[in-house]
Amino acid sequence: MTTVLIFGAGIAGPALANLLTRSGFRVTVVERAEALRTGGYPVDVRGPAVEALRRTGVLADATGAHVDLRRITFLDAGGEPFAEIDPLAMTGGTGGRDIEVPRGTLTALLHASTGTGVDYRFGESITALDDRGDDVRVTFASGAEEVFDLVVGADGLHSAVRRLAFGDEAPFLRPLGLCFAGFTVPTPDGMVREARMQNAPGRIAAIYTPDDSGLSHGFLVTAAEGPLATARSSTPEIVAAVRAAFAGTGGVVPDLLTALDRAEDVYADSVCQVRMADWSRGRVALVGDAAFGPSFPTGQGTSLALVGACVLAGELATRDDHAEAFAAYREVMREYVDLNHGLADDGAARLVPRTEEALEARNAALTTMGEGDLAPEQNRAINSLALPDYDRPARV
Ligand SMILES: Cc1cc2nc3c(=O)[nH]c(=O)nc-3n(C[C@H](O)[C@H](O)[C@H](O)COP(=O)(O)OP(=O)(O)OC[C@H]3O[C@@H](n4cnc5c(N)ncnc54)[C@H](O)[C@@H]3O)c2cc1C
Repeated sequence: MTTVLIFGAGIAGPALANLLTRSGFRVTVVERAEALRTGGYPVDVRGPAVEALRRTGVLADATGAHVDLRRITFLDAGGEPFAEIDPLAMTGGTGGRDIEVPRGTLTALLHASTGTGVDYRFGESITALDDRGDDVRVTFASGAEEVFDLVVGADGLHSAVRRLAFGDEAPFLRPLGLCFAGFTVPTPDGMVREARMQNAPGRIAAIYTPDDSGLSHGFLVTAAEGPLATARSSTPEIVAAVRAAFAGTGGVVPDLLTALDRAEDVYADSVCQVRMADWSRGRVALVGDAAFGPSFPTGQGTSLALVGACVLAGELATRDDHAEAFAAYREVMREYVDLNHGLADDGAARLVPRTEEALEARNAALTTMGEGDLAPEQNRAINSLALPDYDRPARV
């Protein structure tokens, strides 16, 4: 039986574990956190990712958790609303088919769906990889060593598996010139299943309220250069830069800054894409953000992670050897990944216009976004892949 070690129990890791186990592989998942990370903002599952989720068996439950965001309201510098749009006009997607699910819910559903068939190990990481041709010897952070047939890095944007197999992350990260802080914020009065966005040139403050729990997600995003934009700054440095960028701003910002001070779950980073020519080396492969994280202005990170997991599992299950499977994985995914990567610059420009003129032009466009032409370019990229069937008997 082929043994596969997956690093990361986010979205791509548990999805891949689920699908490989169905095909008879013996799967171990190692997660650095002490327990499943079940918090977090809602993420979009669109186009072929809906079918990928169906194949894991969790689509019905995930659909039950669909947020069904009602509207995005844009605020002027003083916090007064001036435009309201259908969320699909901003992000793309197909109403009634695509879903938006709290990230932690999706992770928990995918994890639960693998039942006892997968060996999950929490509070563990990796320090060394030795691809010996016929197998891979892995050294864990705990000091233990073990041998597996294949290793997959599903360990996110700053993947340790990628660093060990491909080298330093810098050449693979393409900065979009933004950094952000995300954190929990008390829900402002009257908000439910909606988002509010307040721009100034080079900045956006956003509140996203998925439900009536009383807690919302706050995001402060600002233009950045140098280390702040290139993933070389720590969380405190980014938070300090974000604070400085928003100092003296009115509207929703003062409440967000207060929440930022009090939050215990601040998540801050630069906004980068992961761009790689190939996603495997020898017996080691990457999937999800580790391989091709498209960046959040595309809204496609979770979809790429699910589709990538489905294609990687399908190719491994139906090819004669891993090298052939990894080559086919690249072949099937390449155009879809590239098209979705291509959404980032426009997405970032729409979300965070850099100048007063660009902001005025964006605001004018908001008021004319009609039902008929909801995000056509996004929808082309979102739907640019049809998942192969992978119905041949399993190779194990
Ligand atoms: C602010 C923000 C907003 C976003 N908005 C959206 C959106 O609207 N729509 C959307 O689709 N996507 C969005 N995304 C992106 C989305 O969250 C990711 O693209 C998606 O979760 C990718 O899944 P993944 O499994 O590849 O990585 P992750 O979900 O990042 O999971 C990686 C896992 O690996 C673990 N790990 C890390 N290092 C190690 C290690 N060394 N050993 C073991 N485990 C390790 C981590 O703890 C984590 O559990 C957003 C991201 C951000 C930051």
